Amino acid sequence: MVERLYTFEPVGVVRSCFAEKFAIPRQPRLAPAARGVVELLPPYDQPEALDGLEQASHLWLLFVFHAAPSGPDHLRVRPPRLGGNRRIGVFASRATHRPNPIGQSVVRLDAVAGGRLHVSGIDLLDGTPVLDIKPYVPYADLVADAHYGLAEAAPRLLSVRWQGEALEAARIHGQRLGEPVLELIEQCLAQDPKPAYQRPAPDREYGVRLWDLNVRWHYPDAGQICVLAVSKV
Ligand code: SAM
Repeated sequence: MVERLYTFEPVGVVRSCFAEKFAIPRQPRLAPAARGVVELLPPYDQPEALDGLEQASHLWLLFVFHAAPSGPDHLRVRPPRLGGNRRIGVFASRATHRPNPIGQSVVRLDAVAGGRLHVSGIDLLDGTPVLDIKPYVPYADLVADAHYGLAEAAPRLLSVRWQGEALEAARIHGQRLGEPVLELIEQCLAQDPKPAYQRPAPDREYGVRLWDLNVRWHYPDAGQICVLAVSKV
């Protein structure tokens, strides 16, 4: 007999550079400049709970896809990484829409300070509830000969260039925020956030919010992104 009901309480919440889902990399570590803080909730914000964690360079975060649309359970999903039109079994994917909306990401642990974990290389929306935190243990977790036939390598990157004052604006806002904003924008846009099936005309503009910034870009040519503007929201 399988127990069917389990209840979990978050141990923390993610404060992230990603204010919306659009343009979040599809996996962790694709944008090393994507930073955030895991704010632990009482009683897990106490030093006892974190004792020894600073010995780990990377963490597993287990979290809730709290902003994933709920709907009927499907046995098959269409991962954006496969172009959005190929369907595969839900358990063959890392899609957000799944029977239990639980995600897991390996992130870099940059610092532990006062009940807060400073992390980078994240693929997490601001406000993501964290269910558990575990150290990444290379001898057990690193599988040198592992493969995944549906996506063997990281996505091909687009080249990102900057128009007019956008680059300087990114630098200035980066200094204000104390964050690598320029790198964050380049790393996230190089992943090509738009759905794979879209073939936008050069005059079509896209935008996203990163930190408190509105970032706007367009696709002057296939395979190229040009950042048009970076301004405070
Ligand atoms: N690395 C995790 C995993 O494999 O379980 C997440 C992979 S999932 C494909 C990554 C996407 O989840 C991101 O691009 C973002 O759009 C979305 N996402 C991140 N945090 C979320 C949240 N709290 N709720 C819903 N969607 C989220």
